[in-house]
Amino acid sequence: MKPSHIEHIGIAVSNLEDAMSFYEKVLGLTCYNIEEIPDQKVRTAFFLVGQTKIELLESTDPEGPIGKFIAKKGEGIHHIAFSVEKIEEQLVHAMKQGITLIDCKPRKGAEGLDIAFLHPKATSGVLIEFCEKKR
Ligand code: ZN
Repeated sequence: MKPSHIEHIGIAVSNLEDAMSFYEKVLGLTCYNIEEIPDQKVRTAFFLVGQTKIELLESTDPEGPIGKFIAKKGEGIHHIAFSVEKIEEQLVHAMKQGITLIDCKPRKGAEGLDIAFLHPKATSGVLIEFCEKKR
């Protein structure tokens, strides 16, 4: 049941283009995709570092999850996503360990991945995401 790697790190930013310039100009990375996810009220920019992605998240609505996060905590790391297989089984496994889930069932996230979040109160304050690439 071990995750294979960190699929991505989600970072909440106030302005996508401003935040992108650090990754492009200082780290020399190339943004390979910008995607709007209306469901989560965000616009995202992706960079690949090894097999891990950096996912910059800009809110498109102050009432959305990223808008609320920034209002409360400011910009910064929003979540860490682990790449898993059999995501449904992983969720059941976590639930059996007494972990509170935000998503009891996977839903569609960016890049067509199946995703589900665990509640940060159960994980030392870190919002954890499971994601699975269905083939
Ligand atoms: Zn994510």
